Amino acid sequence: MSEQNKTVQSGSAAKTQRTMPDPMTNPETERFYEATAAGKLLVGHCKACGKHHYYPRAICPHCLSDQTEWVQAGGGGSIYSYSVLRRGVPVPYAIAYVKLDEGTTMLTNIVECDLDALSIGQRVKLTFVATPNGTQVPAFTPA
Ligand SMILES: [Zn+2]
Repeated sequence: MSEQNKTVQSGSAAKTQRTMPDPMTNPETERFYEATAAGKLLVGHCKACGKHHYYPRAICPHCLSDQTEWVQAGGGGSIYSYSVLRRGVPVPYAIAYVKLDEGTTMLTNIVECDLDALSIGQRVKLTFVATPNGTQVPAFTPA
């Protein structure tokens, strides 16, 4: 996926994006952000119970098995719940729980969208937003 260079759409889509903060990174998250730099979103998958989880971790949050692996998410999902922040922020933005097609839910940002047109259950797709230090942070945009 090479969408880093795409321009923000005109029309009703927000033209101004807020600057995302740099994520906290540590040795455990290094691999995750190496993948996002390559345009991939990694989620955890448990070989014991078969469920996915986010963020990826060594112990499955569903069944506590240590038989976990990191797999690439397909990038599709739908909005489970969302909130638009307008007050006290320089640029309004939307945060949301997105339910990935893999079945796990992640807290993320909805970007390049009309903030007034978001809805529960809306289909979204994976994109990435660069933070000031160049880290690619996963986000979602209407599909
Ligand atoms: Zn499990």
